[in-house]
Amino acid sequence: MVGLRVQTKLFLAIAVNIVLFIGVILFIIKPYFIEKSIEQDQAMTQEQIESVTEVFANQRMMQERTLVDWAVWSNAYDFVLGKNDAFVANNMGHETLENLGVGAMIFLNEDNQVVYSEFNKFAHLTSDAEKDAFTKEIVKFSNKSEMKQHAVYGTDYGPVVFMSHPIVKSDGAGPPAGTLIVIQKIGPDFLAAMSAQAKTNLSISPLSHQQLTVETDEQFARVSLPLQAIYQDANWEVNFSVKRTYYTNTQTMLETGMLGLLVLGVGLLLTLFWTINQIVTKRLFEIVKELKRITMERNSRLRIPIKPRKRDEIEEMAISMNEVLDALEQTQKESLSRAFRDSLTRLPNRLAVEEMFTNLPVSSRQIGVMGIDLDNFRRINDQFGQRTGDAMLTFFASRLMFYKEDGFVARIGADEFIFIHPNWATEELTLVANQLIKDLREWGLKQGMNGLTLSIGIDELLDPNVLSYEVMMSRLDVVLHEVKVSGKNNILSYKEIENGSHYLQALEMERDLRHALRNDEFELYYQPIVSPHPFQVRGVEALVRWQHPTKGFISPGVFIPVAEQLGLISEVGRWVLRRAITEIMNHVEHFDLFLSVNVSKRQILDGSFLQELKNVLEETGFNPTLLHVEITESEVGGNIFELQQFIHVLKRMGVKISLDDFGVGTSSLSYLQSLHLDIVKIDQNFVKGIPENTFDRALLEGLYQTFQTLGLEIVTEGVERPEQLAFVLEYSSSLIQGYHYSKPIPLHQLEHYLEKVVVT
Ligand code: C2E
Ligand code: CA
Ligand code: CA
Repeated sequence: MVGLRVQTKLFLAIAVNIVLFIGVILFIIKPYFIEKSIEQDQAMTQEQIESVTEVFANQRMMQERTLVDWAVWSNAYDFVLGKNDAFVANNMGHETLENLGVGAMIFLNEDNQVVYSEFNKFAHLTSDAEKDAFTKEIVKFSNKSEMKQHAVYGTDYGPVVFMSHPIVKSDGAGPPAGTLIVIQKIGPDFLAAMSAQAKTNLSISPLSHQQLTVETDEQFARVSLPLQAIYQDANWEVNFSVKRTYYTNTQTMLETGMLGLLVLGVGLLLTLFWTINQIVTKRLFEIVKELKRITMERNSRLRIPIKPRKRDEIEEMAISMNEVLDALEQTQKESLSRAFRDSLTRLPNRLAVEEMFTNLPVSSRQIGVMGIDLDNFRRINDQFGQRTGDAMLTFFASRLMFYKEDGFVARIGADEFIFIHPNWATEELTLVANQLIKDLREWGLKQGMNGLTLSIGIDELLDPNVLSYEVMMSRLDVVLHEVKVSGKNNILSYKEIENGSHYLQALEMERDLRHALRNDEFELYYQPIVSPHPFQVRGVEALVRWQHPTKGFISPGVFIPVAEQLGLISEVGRWVLRRAITEIMNHVEHFDLFLSVNVSKRQILDGSFLQELKNVLEETGFNPTLLHVEITESEVGGNIFELQQFIHVLKRMGVKISLDDFGVGTSSLSYLQSLHLDIVKIDQNFVKGIPENTFDRALLEGLYQTFQTLGLEIVTEGVERPEQLAFVLEYSSSLIQGYHYSKPIPLHQLEHYLEKVVVT
């Protein structure tokens, strides 16, 4: 549609220009030529008039000469006097008149009587009577008193040129003996002769205009020339017409010219249109068409075809467009590579693994996969700084690249890597895994970091056609989880899990946990939280313990993550909350303590914690302001909205919010502030290096300052040694939770502890 419009516009523009051009010629040039031609025609008519006048004047002169020759002649003189009888026989006759070219000669005597008359070209005058009558008619015109007379008169035989002269002796001596009349008949012959001389068709008619008149029509200028101008007396006029040659020629020339111009214009219009169309419009449409095709196909590799021989502006435009497409393709490639590549280590990322895995050749019969997790990476980041963390990642990436051979390595998480080799089995992968553990440990030692460890899960995929990326990743997840649960710095293969131990252990654990819930195998220990100076027990944290009937004591550090994994944590959590409140309610109120309980993310999300809390508070009447809820920082990330809702509800009830294990996660302070926390519990790892480690000291000191400025209550965990306590005391007014005061203890021991402490 757009194309049509451009073409139409183009066509109209050219047409208008051509019409304008023709118009200019028509309205300016044409009148000029016409006027010119009219002038030329008028000049020609004038010439013709002059020529006709001259011809008549000549005729008059000739006739006059003849007349005078004959009238001034002694022989004629004598003849008229009757003294020369031989005159007629000697001189006159029909032939004489013919030779002289006159129509009639009449000799009159003194008394105006006809002495002799002779006629020529008056063929119709046959009888003498007729001749006499005609002669009489002529003689009438003669006027003796006039010396010389010339005139045109109408007679019964048509108009004639009449001339008369007195007859005198040859020497001119008079008195005149009579009068000689010479007549010229203005008949067809005469007119033909005159016409021949004047070179135009002459006719004669009685006078209709007193003056010279020129009447013009399209073709001719019709001239009426009164003969009065030439003869003394004439009531006649000569008519002739002059062809308006210039005018008509110009007219036809202009007409054919216009026609020619019109044809030329139409031709020009068509050729111009065709040419422009061929050179510009058509090519533009082609380019537009190509661009549309490229847009439709969404193929960034497509380009507008270039015609290298036609290097013109349009081709330049197409080339420029191709350059734009190049740039777009480049940008797309770059953003793709950015999407598929980790910017720090320059290794491919998780997306790239998926891409690579789904495009694996079918021929790969056996694929070795290895998932690697840097243990405690977040802590290293916190403790040694982001730079060291980055250096560790880049170092590790370079080691992976070193070992990969034909394989593929990628960074799939903050501290997770994957190693895929299309032909390797567990054995080869295990070799590399051990090497990696060794490399990292050595690197750590150089940096002053003791005991850097890895968790590595190995898997063999025997049939890539059956195993998808998802299956591969979930199997790897399982192995890695098993590695973590079973202890640090371990290599485990999926085969081992399948073969028994780990998988069965997990199954067993699930069964045992359910059993434990039903059979009351759990127990609560309480760890005092004290303000050291002056010493006062301020609260207790309830920590769950599991006394397995056959396996003995199982650490919460082991079974809580499994319970979370299996979805049993909510039930465990409900049990802990209810038991803690019911069994310690009296002590708490009596000793003015707070009760701190741990809550997992799942409990927050499924609403089970809030529900159970409401029930228990209702049943027991426990004062909710004495309750602290501990949320683990590492679990806080994500689900921010749900978390805020949860905190909001608790705070409305008067419950205090405590952020557990601060420093393990990587949340920003502003984010933590948005949660409206009451208490921050600094993770034991920060305290471990106190007072020996300068870095830890600086860090802890900074944390105290920050939190105190923010107005948060602080609990320092893991205080075991007096020096640690001294440090905490020096730099903060933090509460203390640690072995220095008490390990987590069963209720009866806590009773004892509180009594003793109060007593002391
Ligand atoms: P947590 O919440 O950080 O609990 C504090 C842990 O630090 C306890 O380990 C405690 O025994 C230990 N601890 C306290 N003072 C010291 C010290 O001076 N030195 C050392 N080395 N350790 C100290 P525990 O009881 O083994 O619990 C481990 C984790 O299990 C807890 O860490 C908590 O995350 C989880 N947990 C325990 N009970 C519950 C529970 O009822 N619900 C939930 N969701 N998690 C629980
Ligand atoms: Ca805790
Ligand atoms: Ca803690």
